[in-house]
Amino acid sequence: MKDSILVINCGSSSLKFAMLANSGQDTLFEGIADQLGSDNSTITFKYQGQKELTHLTVSSHENAVEQIKLWLDQHADIRDSMMGIGHRIVHGGETFGQSVLIDEEVINGIRECSSLAPLHNPAHIQGIHVAMNFFPGLPQVAVFDTSFHQTLSQEQYLYPIPMEFYREHHFRKYGFHGTSYRYISQQLAKLAPNSDQQGVLVAHLGNGASTCAIHHGLSSDTSMGITPLEGLMMGTRSGSLDPSLLTFIMQAKNISAEEALNILNKQSGLLGISELSNDCRTLEDAMVSGDERAKLALDMFAVRTAKYLASTATTLESIDHLVFTGGIGENSSYLRQVICQQLRAFNIKLDAALNDNATRGKVSRIAAADSATQIWVIPTNEELMIALDAISLIQGL
Ligand code: AMP
Repeated sequence: MKDSILVINCGSSSLKFAMLANSGQDTLFEGIADQLGSDNSTITFKYQGQKELTHLTVSSHENAVEQIKLWLDQHADIRDSMMGIGHRIVHGGETFGQSVLIDEEVINGIRECSSLAPLHNPAHIQGIHVAMNFFPGLPQVAVFDTSFHQTLSQEQYLYPIPMEFYREHHFRKYGFHGTSYRYISQQLAKLAPNSDQQGVLVAHLGNGASTCAIHHGLSSDTSMGITPLEGLMMGTRSGSLDPSLLTFIMQAKNISAEEALNILNKQSGLLGISELSNDCRTLEDAMVSGDERAKLALDMFAVRTAKYLASTATTLESIDHLVFTGGIGENSSYLRQVICQQLRAFNIKLDAALNDNATRGKVSRIAAADSATQIWVIPTNEELMIALDAISLIQGL
Protein backbone atom coordinates (compact mmCIF):
# COMPACT_ATOMS: atom_id res chain seq x y z
CA MET A 1 0.00 0.00 0.00
CA LYS A 2 1.30 3.46 -0.91
CA ASP A 3 0.97 5.35 2.36
CA SER A 4 4.49 6.64 3.17
CA ILE A 5 5.56 10.26 3.05
CA LEU A 6 9.19 11.32 2.87
CA VAL A 7 9.47 14.48 4.99
CA ILE A 8 12.37 16.73 4.01
CA ASN A 9 13.63 19.68 6.04
CA CYS A 10 16.30 21.32 3.95
CA GLY A 11 18.49 23.91 5.69
CA SER A 12 21.39 25.90 4.26
CA SER A 13 23.96 23.30 5.37
CA SER A 14 21.84 20.37 6.51
CA LEU A 15 19.06 18.15 5.27
CA LYS A 16 16.87 16.29 7.77
CA PHE A 17 14.64 13.52 6.53
CA ALA A 18 12.10 11.02 7.83
CA MET A 19 9.82 8.47 6.18
CA LEU A 20 6.43 8.34 7.91
CA ALA A 21 3.90 5.57 7.22
CA ASN A 22 0.51 4.46 8.50
CA SER A 23 -1.08 7.95 8.51
CA GLY A 24 2.17 9.35 9.86
CA GLN A 25 2.04 7.13 12.98
CA ASP A 26 5.14 5.03 12.17
CA THR A 27 8.62 6.35 11.36
CA LEU A 28 10.19 3.81 8.99
CA PHE A 29 13.58 5.54 8.96
CA GLU A 30 14.98 8.99 9.58
CA GLY A 31 18.25 10.82 9.45
CA ILE A 32 20.28 13.91 8.75
CA ALA A 33 22.87 15.04 6.25
CA ASP A 34 25.06 17.53 8.09
CA GLN A 35 27.71 20.16 7.30
CA LEU A 36 26.79 20.16 3.62
CA GLY A 37 29.17 22.33 1.61
CA SER A 38 32.13 21.53 3.90
CA ASP A 39 34.77 18.79 3.77
CA ASN A 40 33.29 17.06 6.82
CA SER A 41 29.80 16.37 5.59
CA THR A 42 28.12 13.18 6.72
CA ILE A 43 24.80 11.45 6.30
CA THR A 44 23.28 9.41 9.12
CA PHE A 45 20.43 6.93 8.71
CA LYS A 46 18.52 5.69 11.74
CA TYR A 47 16.69 2.49 10.91
CA GLN A 48 15.30 -0.21 13.21
CA GLY A 49 17.13 1.27 16.21
CA GLN A 50 20.55 1.31 14.48
CA LYS A 51 22.46 4.42 13.41
CA GLU A 52 24.62 4.29 10.30
CA LEU A 53 26.93 7.23 9.53
CA THR A 54 28.63 7.71 6.14
CA HIS A 55 31.01 10.48 5.06
CA LEU A 56 29.83 12.19 1.89
CA THR A 57 32.47 12.38 -0.79
CA VAL A 58 30.38 14.92 -2.70
CA SER A 59 29.20 17.45 -0.13
CA SER A 60 25.92 18.75 -1.56
CA HIS A 61 22.17 18.66 -1.00
CA GLU A 62 21.91 16.84 -4.31
CA ASN A 63 24.20 14.05 -3.14
CA ALA A 64 22.33 13.82 0.18
CA VAL A 65 19.04 13.17 -1.64
CA GLU A 66 20.82 10.75 -3.99
CA GLN A 67 22.03 8.81 -0.92
CA ILE A 68 18.44 8.59 0.33
CA LYS A 69 17.41 7.32 -3.10
CA LEU A 70 20.23 4.73 -3.10
CA TRP A 71 19.29 3.67 0.44
CA LEU A 72 15.68 3.26 -0.71
CA ASP A 73 16.80 1.16 -3.67
CA GLN A 74 18.19 -1.29 -1.10
CA HIS A 75 14.90 -1.20 0.82
CA ALA A 76 12.50 -1.64 -2.06
CA ASP A 77 9.48 -2.35 0.15
CA ILE A 78 9.78 1.12 1.70
CA ARG A 79 10.58 2.76 -1.64
CA ASP A 80 7.51 1.19 -3.22
CA SER A 81 5.28 2.41 -0.39
CA MET A 82 6.05 6.09 -1.06
CA MET A 83 3.01 8.21 -1.94
CA GLY A 84 4.75 11.59 -1.90
CA ILE A 85 7.18 14.04 -0.37
CA GLY A 86 6.48 16.81 2.16
CA HIS A 87 8.84 19.78 2.44
CA ARG A 88 9.14 22.07 5.44
CA ILE A 89 9.40 25.63 4.14
CA VAL A 90 10.40 28.41 6.54
CA HIS A 91 8.87 31.44 4.83
CA GLY A 92 5.62 31.58 2.88
CA GLY A 93 5.22 35.35 3.19
CA GLU A 94 1.67 36.54 2.60
CA THR A 95 1.38 34.22 -0.40
CA PHE A 96 0.85 30.92 1.41
CA GLY A 97 -1.83 30.77 4.12
CA GLN A 98 -1.85 26.96 3.96
CA SER A 99 0.04 23.95 2.69
CA VAL A 100 0.02 23.41 -1.07
CA LEU A 101 0.90 20.86 -3.74
CA ILE A 102 4.12 22.00 -5.38
CA ASP A 103 4.17 23.12 -9.01
CA GLU A 104 6.21 25.73 -10.90
CA GLU A 105 3.96 28.56 -9.68
CA VAL A 106 4.47 27.49 -6.04
CA ILE A 107 8.24 27.29 -6.53
CA ASN A 108 8.14 30.84 -7.94
CA GLY A 109 6.10 31.96 -4.92
CA ILE A 110 8.65 30.43 -2.52
CA ARG A 111 11.41 32.14 -4.52
CA GLU A 112 9.63 35.50 -4.21
CA CYS A 113 9.68 35.10 -0.41
CA SER A 114 13.46 34.49 -0.45
CA SER A 115 14.33 38.10 0.38
CA LEU A 116 12.57 37.54 3.73
CA ALA A 117 14.44 34.27 4.44
CA PRO A 118 17.65 34.46 2.39
CA LEU A 119 19.33 31.51 4.12
CA HIS A 120 16.35 29.17 4.14
CA ASN A 121 14.09 29.59 1.11
CA PRO A 122 16.80 29.14 -1.56
CA ALA A 123 17.86 25.92 0.22
CA HIS A 124 14.24 24.72 0.23
CA ILE A 125 13.92 25.36 -3.51
CA GLN A 126 17.11 23.43 -4.06
CA GLY A 127 15.72 20.56 -1.99
CA ILE A 128 12.50 20.55 -4.03
CA HIS A 129 14.35 20.50 -7.36
CA VAL A 130 16.67 17.73 -6.24
CA ALA A 131 13.76 15.66 -4.93
CA MET A 132 11.89 16.16 -8.23
CA ASN A 133 14.98 14.96 -10.04
CA PHE A 134 15.46 11.77 -7.99
CA PHE A 135 11.77 10.98 -7.44
CA PRO A 136 10.14 12.05 -10.73
CA GLY A 137 6.37 11.82 -10.81
CA LEU A 138 5.93 11.69 -7.03
CA PRO A 139 3.66 14.50 -5.78
CA GLN A 140 5.37 17.00 -3.48
CA VAL A 141 3.80 19.27 -0.89
CA ALA A 142 5.07 22.47 0.75
CA VAL A 143 4.24 23.14 4.41
CA PHE A 144 5.10 26.63 5.68
CA ASP A 145 6.25 27.71 9.16
CA THR A 146 4.51 31.04 8.64
CA SER A 147 1.07 29.87 7.38
CA PHE A 148 -0.59 29.38 10.77
CA HIS A 149 0.00 33.04 11.66
CA GLN A 150 -1.68 34.47 8.57
CA THR A 151 -4.79 34.97 10.74
CA LEU A 152 -3.14 37.78 12.78
CA SER A 153 -4.97 41.11 12.58
CA GLN A 154 -3.27 44.15 11.02
CA GLU A 155 -2.93 45.70 14.47
CA GLN A 156 -0.79 42.72 15.46
CA TYR A 157 1.27 42.15 12.33
CA LEU A 158 2.16 45.69 11.27
CA TYR A 159 5.29 47.33 12.64
CA PRO A 160 4.79 50.99 13.61
CA ILE A 161 7.14 52.24 10.88
CA PRO A 162 6.21 54.17 7.70
CA MET A 163 3.53 52.22 5.80
CA GLU A 164 5.53 52.34 2.58
CA PHE A 165 7.80 49.61 3.99
CA TYR A 166 4.82 47.28 4.27
CA ARG A 167 3.28 48.37 0.96
CA GLU A 168 6.46 48.17 -1.07
CA HIS A 169 8.60 45.61 0.77
CA HIS A 170 6.11 43.47 2.76
CA PHE A 171 7.95 44.27 6.02
CA ARG A 172 5.62 42.94 8.76
CA LYS A 173 5.44 40.32 11.48
CA TYR A 174 5.08 36.83 9.98
CA GLY A 175 5.82 34.51 12.91
CA PHE A 176 7.31 31.01 12.78
CA HIS A 177 6.93 27.55 14.40
CA GLY A 178 3.43 27.57 12.83
CA THR A 179 3.49 23.86 12.01
CA SER A 180 4.22 23.10 15.67
CA TYR A 181 1.47 25.44 16.91
CA ARG A 182 -1.08 23.93 14.53
CA TYR A 183 -0.14 20.44 15.73
CA ILE A 184 -0.40 21.47 19.40
CA SER A 185 -3.76 23.16 18.80
CA GLN A 186 -5.11 19.95 17.21
CA GLN A 187 -3.69 17.69 19.95
CA LEU A 188 -5.11 19.93 22.65
CA ALA A 189 -8.53 19.78 20.97
CA LYS A 190 -8.40 15.99 21.40
CA LEU A 191 -7.42 16.30 25.09
CA ALA A 192 -9.75 19.19 25.91
CA PRO A 193 -12.51 19.16 23.28
CA ASN A 194 -13.71 22.67 24.13
CA SER A 195 -10.26 24.21 23.63
CA ASP A 196 -10.98 25.18 20.02
CA GLN A 197 -13.57 27.61 21.40
CA GLN A 198 -11.20 28.93 24.11
CA GLY A 199 -8.01 30.92 24.64
CA VAL A 200 -4.75 28.98 24.44
CA LEU A 201 -1.18 30.11 25.06
CA VAL A 202 1.65 27.98 23.70
CA ALA A 203 5.35 28.30 24.52
CA HIS A 204 7.42 26.47 21.90
CA LEU A 205 10.77 26.46 23.68
CA GLY A 206 13.70 24.87 21.88
CA ASN A 207 16.98 26.21 20.60
CA GLY A 208 14.68 28.58 18.69
CA ALA A 209 11.82 29.71 20.91
CA SER A 210 8.55 31.59 20.51
CA THR A 211 5.10 32.00 22.02
CA CYS A 212 1.71 31.96 20.33
CA ALA A 213 -1.79 32.92 21.41
CA ILE A 214 -4.50 30.80 19.81
CA HIS A 215 -8.00 32.26 19.91
CA HIS A 216 -10.74 29.77 18.96
CA GLY A 217 -8.22 27.63 17.07
CA LEU A 218 -6.59 30.50 15.14
CA SER A 219 -3.28 32.24 15.78
CA SER A 220 -4.03 35.72 17.16
CA ASP A 221 -0.48 36.77 18.10
CA THR A 222 3.01 35.35 18.16
CA SER A 223 6.36 36.57 19.42
CA MET A 224 8.60 36.05 16.38
CA GLY A 225 8.51 38.70 13.68
CA ILE A 226 9.69 39.27 10.13
CA THR A 227 12.55 36.91 11.05
CA PRO A 228 12.91 34.37 13.89
CA LEU A 229 15.08 36.86 15.83
CA GLU A 230 12.22 38.79 17.43
CA GLY A 231 10.68 37.94 20.78
CA LEU A 232 12.08 35.48 23.30
CA MET A 233 15.67 35.07 24.38
CA MET A 234 16.82 31.83 22.69
CA GLY A 235 19.80 29.48 22.58
CA THR A 236 22.03 31.88 20.63
CA ARG A 237 19.55 34.63 19.62
CA SER A 238 19.00 37.74 21.69
CA GLY A 239 15.30 38.07 20.90
CA SER A 240 13.79 41.57 21.09
CA LEU A 241 15.86 44.51 22.25
CA ASP A 242 16.16 48.24 21.62
CA PRO A 243 16.97 48.45 17.86
CA SER A 244 19.48 51.22 18.64
CA LEU A 245 21.71 48.53 20.14
CA LEU A 246 22.49 47.36 16.62
CA THR A 247 24.23 50.64 15.78
CA PHE A 248 25.86 50.79 19.23
CA ILE A 249 27.35 47.31 18.68
CA MET A 250 28.49 48.26 15.15
CA GLN A 251 30.26 51.36 16.50
CA ALA A 252 31.70 49.64 19.60
CA LYS A 253 33.24 46.85 17.50
CA ASN A 254 33.68 48.78 14.24
CA ILE A 255 31.77 46.12 12.32
CA SER A 256 29.11 46.03 9.59
CA ALA A 257 25.36 45.71 10.16
CA GLU A 258 25.54 42.07 9.02
CA GLU A 259 28.29 41.29 11.50
CA ALA A 260 26.38 42.98 14.31
CA LEU A 261 23.23 41.06 13.37
CA ASN A 262 25.27 37.89 13.38
CA ILE A 263 26.20 38.60 17.02
CA LEU A 264 22.50 38.93 17.87
CA ASN A 265 21.66 35.71 16.00
CA LYS A 266 24.61 33.46 16.82
CA GLN A 267 26.43 34.69 19.93
CA SER A 268 23.67 35.98 22.19
CA GLY A 269 20.83 34.45 24.20
CA LEU A 270 21.67 31.64 26.65
CA LEU A 271 25.17 31.38 25.14
CA GLY A 272 25.88 35.10 25.34
CA ILE A 273 24.86 35.45 29.00
CA SER A 274 26.28 32.16 30.33
CA GLU A 275 29.46 32.35 28.22
CA LEU A 276 29.25 28.58 28.50
CA SER A 277 26.65 27.02 26.22
CA ASN A 278 23.45 27.56 24.25
CA ASP A 279 22.21 24.17 25.46
CA CYS A 280 19.65 24.19 28.27
CA ARG A 281 20.71 20.78 29.60
CA THR A 282 24.36 21.84 29.91
CA LEU A 283 23.29 25.03 31.69
CA GLU A 284 21.01 23.19 34.11
CA ASP A 285 23.88 20.83 35.01
CA ALA A 286 26.18 23.85 35.50
CA MET A 287 23.57 25.61 37.64
CA VAL A 288 23.27 22.55 39.88
CA SER A 289 27.07 22.63 40.28
CA GLY A 290 26.85 26.25 41.44
CA ASP A 291 27.51 28.20 38.21
CA GLU A 292 25.76 31.52 38.93
CA ARG A 293 25.93 32.74 35.34
CA ALA A 294 24.28 29.58 34.01
CA LYS A 295 21.45 30.23 36.50
CA LEU A 296 21.24 33.88 35.43
CA ALA A 297 20.98 32.87 31.75
CA LEU A 298 18.22 30.34 32.52
CA ASP A 299 16.32 32.77 34.73
CA MET A 300 16.52 35.52 32.11
CA PHE A 301 15.20 33.03 29.55
CA ALA A 302 12.27 32.20 31.86
CA VAL A 303 11.47 35.80 32.76
CA ARG A 304 11.44 36.90 29.15
CA THR A 305 9.34 33.92 28.09
CA ALA A 306 6.76 34.84 30.76
CA LYS A 307 6.77 38.44 29.53
CA TYR A 308 5.96 37.34 25.97
CA LEU A 309 3.31 34.90 27.12
CA ALA A 310 1.62 37.75 28.97
CA SER A 311 1.97 40.05 25.98
CA THR A 312 0.58 37.58 23.41
CA ALA A 313 -2.27 36.80 25.86
CA THR A 314 -3.70 40.29 25.29
CA THR A 315 -5.32 38.92 22.10
CA LEU A 316 -7.33 36.34 24.10
CA GLU A 317 -10.60 36.68 26.01
CA SER A 318 -9.34 34.27 28.67
CA ILE A 319 -6.27 32.12 29.22
CA ASP A 320 -7.87 28.71 29.46
CA HIS A 321 -4.80 26.63 28.57
CA LEU A 322 -1.04 27.08 28.66
CA VAL A 323 0.98 24.49 26.74
CA PHE A 324 4.72 23.91 26.95
CA THR A 325 6.41 22.22 24.00
CA GLY A 326 9.80 21.99 22.19
CA GLY A 327 12.98 20.42 23.61
CA ILE A 328 13.10 22.83 26.59
CA GLY A 329 9.35 23.18 27.12
CA GLU A 330 8.90 19.41 27.14
CA ASN A 331 11.88 18.60 29.36
CA SER A 332 12.89 21.43 31.66
CA SER A 333 10.74 21.31 34.80
CA TYR A 334 12.96 24.07 36.25
CA LEU A 335 12.17 26.56 33.48
CA ARG A 336 8.46 25.66 33.45
CA GLN A 337 8.38 26.36 37.17
CA VAL A 338 10.12 29.75 36.92
CA ILE A 339 7.98 30.80 33.94
CA CYS A 340 4.74 29.96 35.77
CA GLN A 341 6.01 31.66 38.93
CA GLN A 342 6.40 34.85 36.84
CA LEU A 343 2.80 34.47 35.67
CA ARG A 344 1.35 34.26 39.20
CA ALA A 345 -0.54 37.57 38.74
CA PHE A 346 -2.68 35.70 36.16
CA ASN A 347 -3.40 32.96 38.70
CA ILE A 348 -1.48 30.49 36.54
CA LYS A 349 -0.23 27.92 39.06
CA LEU A 350 1.80 24.76 38.63
CA ASP A 351 1.56 21.67 40.81
CA ALA A 352 5.23 21.17 41.74
CA ALA A 353 5.00 17.37 41.94
CA LEU A 354 3.10 17.00 38.66
CA ASN A 355 5.62 19.33 37.00
CA ASP A 356 8.63 17.40 38.31
CA ASN A 357 7.13 14.04 37.37
CA ALA A 358 6.03 14.94 33.83
CA THR A 359 7.11 11.94 31.75
CA ARG A 360 9.41 12.62 28.86
CA GLY A 361 7.75 12.24 25.46
CA LYS A 362 4.25 11.99 26.96
CA VAL A 363 1.36 14.41 27.45
CA SER A 364 1.19 15.67 31.04
CA ARG A 365 -1.26 17.90 32.90
CA ILE A 366 0.70 19.89 35.43
CA ALA A 367 -1.61 22.66 36.78
CA ALA A 368 -2.41 23.00 40.49
CA ALA A 369 -6.01 22.27 41.42
CA ASP A 370 -6.72 25.99 42.01
CA SER A 371 -4.98 27.29 38.85
CA ALA A 372 -7.15 29.53 36.65
CA THR A 373 -5.48 27.97 33.60
CA GLN A 374 -4.96 24.33 32.65
CA ILE A 375 -1.23 23.78 32.11
CA TRP A 376 0.01 21.07 29.77
CA VAL A 377 3.22 19.56 28.48
CA ILE A 378 2.55 18.29 24.95
CA PRO A 379 5.38 16.89 22.79
CA THR A 380 5.30 18.54 19.38
CA ASN A 381 5.61 16.64 16.10
CA GLU A 382 6.18 18.86 13.10
CA GLU A 383 7.11 15.92 10.84
CA LEU A 384 3.76 14.24 11.51
CA MET A 385 1.92 17.47 10.67
CA ILE A 386 3.84 17.77 7.40
CA ALA A 387 3.07 14.13 6.53
CA LEU A 388 -0.64 14.57 7.33
CA ASP A 389 -0.86 17.71 5.17
CA ALA A 390 0.89 15.88 2.35
CA ILE A 391 -1.45 12.88 2.61
CA SER A 392 -4.54 15.05 2.64
CA LEU A 393 -3.45 17.12 -0.39
CA ILE A 394 -2.25 14.10 -2.38
CA GLN A 395 -5.45 12.15 -1.67
CA GLY A 396 -7.40 15.11 -3.06
CA LEU A 397 -5.60 14.85 -6.42
P1 AMP B 1 14.82 21.68 20.17
O1 AMP B 1 15.41 22.86 19.43
O2 AMP B 1 13.32 21.72 20.27
O3 AMP B 1 15.34 20.35 19.69
O4 AMP B 1 15.33 21.81 21.70
C1 AMP B 1 16.69 21.82 22.03
C2 AMP B 1 16.84 22.31 23.47
O5 AMP B 1 16.13 21.42 24.35
C3 AMP B 1 18.29 22.33 23.94
O6 AMP B 1 18.55 23.54 24.63
C4 AMP B 1 18.33 21.16 24.91
O7 AMP B 1 19.29 21.32 25.93
C5 AMP B 1 16.94 21.19 25.48
N1 AMP B 1 16.64 19.92 26.15
C6 AMP B 1 16.52 18.70 25.60
N2 AMP B 1 16.34 17.75 26.58
C7 AMP B 1 16.38 18.42 27.78
C8 AMP B 1 16.26 18.02 29.15
N3 AMP B 1 16.08 16.75 29.48
N4 AMP B 1 16.34 18.98 30.10
C9 AMP B 1 16.52 20.28 29.77
N5 AMP B 1 16.63 20.72 28.49
C10 AMP B 1 16.57 19.80 27.50
